[in-house]
Amino acid sequence: MALNWKLKEALAARLAREKGYYLHSAGGRTRFALAYPNSYFVGMSNLGFHIIYDVLNRRTDTACERFFLPERREFEEYVRTRTPLLSMETQTPLSEFAVVGFAVSFEMDYFHLLDMLEAGRVPLLAAERDERTPLVIAGGPCATFNPEPLSPFVDAFIIGEGEETVGRFMDAYHAAKDDGASRAEILRLLSRVPGVYVPSLYEHIYNDSGELDVIRPIGDAPAQVERQWVKNLDDYPAHTVVVTDETEFDMYLIETARGCGRHCRFCMAGYCFRKPRNRSLSVLKDAVKAAKVYEKRIGLMGAAISDHPEIDALSEYILAENMTMSVASFRADSVTETLVRSLAESGMKTITLAPEAGSVKMRAVVNKGIEEEHLFRAMDLGMAAGIRHYRLYIMIGLPQETEEDVDAIAALTGRLKDYLERNDSRSTLKLSVNPFIPKPFTPFQWTAMADKKYIEAALKRLKKSLLSRKGVELIAEPPKSAYIQAVLARGDRRVGRALYRAHTMGGAKAFRQAMKAEGLEEAYYIFRAYGAQDVLPWDVLDMGVKKEYLYEEWKRAERLETTIPCFDGCRRCGVCD
Ligand code: SF4
Ligand code: SF4
Repeated sequence: MALNWKLKEALAARLAREKGYYLHSAGGRTRFALAYPNSYFVGMSNLGFHIIYDVLNRRTDTACERFFLPERREFEEYVRTRTPLLSMETQTPLSEFAVVGFAVSFEMDYFHLLDMLEAGRVPLLAAERDERTPLVIAGGPCATFNPEPLSPFVDAFIIGEGEETVGRFMDAYHAAKDDGASRAEILRLLSRVPGVYVPSLYEHIYNDSGELDVIRPIGDAPAQVERQWVKNLDDYPAHTVVVTDETEFDMYLIETARGCGRHCRFCMAGYCFRKPRNRSLSVLKDAVKAAKVYEKRIGLMGAAISDHPEIDALSEYILAENMTMSVASFRADSVTETLVRSLAESGMKTITLAPEAGSVKMRAVVNKGIEEEHLFRAMDLGMAAGIRHYRLYIMIGLPQETEEDVDAIAALTGRLKDYLERNDSRSTLKLSVNPFIPKPFTPFQWTAMADKKYIEAALKRLKKSLLSRKGVELIAEPPKSAYIQAVLARGDRRVGRALYRAHTMGGAKAFRQAMKAEGLEEAYYIFRAYGAQDVLPWDVLDMGVKKEYLYEEWKRAERLETTIPCFDGCRRCGVCD
């Protein structure tokens, strides 16, 4: 097996620039390859990846090493020199690991997962692996809400939050290995671990019209797999584990909270990671202290940062420690003066707000709970702190949206810009517009996505209305890319065939062609509304939220009824039973 010295040296050099990685001596430990299906830069910016790396390496029986998708030039070098994909820590080929675990956060990374398996000389199809090949597992948000398109390539999925499940997975794996179990027996035993889904133990049966009719467990596989969640976040690491300068924002990440209780009806994170939990201030302060030696800006992570009850105390503590902080966005209705001032003092130049829609009606449909007065107030706080650039996240193509609702986005933008200008003529407002994708396990899972004609017309209308506004910029995600994401997010097992074929034809750019070649229609997956009785490809998973509850939320959206957030003592959705 050729191992190119240049590639090995590049990995070793990058490792030398890191702090905090694990390097276990060989022998005695099971080798676990933790793989991120995107570049080092993107993967190392993912806090979940750091946390699982830490959890696995803290075990006495596992040695976890990291793998990333090589950058284009580096990948060409791997191919040219026939070098198999190598790990960061010891530059060992992927196929020499017992378990390969992918952390999958984005649908478009599915293509990279296949690229990495091939580059690592691991058979792509689970059915083609034998006793000598690694077990391939996957976890992360995408694996949690709909693993089916990846099911031909993955032996087992970790459903939900991985901190505890991955430990139980390794315990069961070692016990089975100690008993001399075969690969098939190991998978059967793993399927009994709560939160582990072994797709080969389920048959998907389609009716004559090609609709999914039944998902049938084989043997003693459980009828449904329950997603797992960490009850006490303080029990697990909250921050960056391996420190490097080569990340997206060059920050030290600290997770303040997980889950979200705001019930926005489009939000997969809000439904799959319930219920909302906060890390304690003392644990967060410890994480800040740990960050201090690295002299990096702190990036606070969480579904709704400003909802943390101690956010002011934490912000003040960070500044008192002579450190700076940043957040990706916050909720306009819970943001505080202290938080905004701390961000401004930290050098943050732009505030990002996410009203998602322009009209009162659409904000009721999505149940966002953000009203205009909240946006004005957040801008007031920002301007008082000297921040002059604002960004709004907006979705188009939402259920029940009409031309008037699109016009309402432009009207809202205009009012907000007028407001900013009255205070500061150099202020700017940027609109980030994305087509709405109905995601599994949300109340919108039953609805269809808006078609291309509608999305393009809505974007055109919006652009035209904003054309004459100085200081307003509109950035829009093209519908083509959103449709591929939607097929992968909503697809069934048959979509896995298209992924496989696309891989042989050049990857993501060939996906639509591959769908056709497999006799699959993109429209079937994205423009079809499901009925209440339809079997959904992800029905084998139990997210904790009852399906009837989700359906009732869908009906409430149709009736423009809003839903209140989570509260102590609530037993509504099934998660806190
Ligand atoms: S506030 Fe809404 S959009 Fe944001 S994480 Fe919570 S549920 Fe999702
Ligand atoms: S039961 Fe109530 S508090 Fe618990 S997650 Fe569901 S809605 Fe939130």
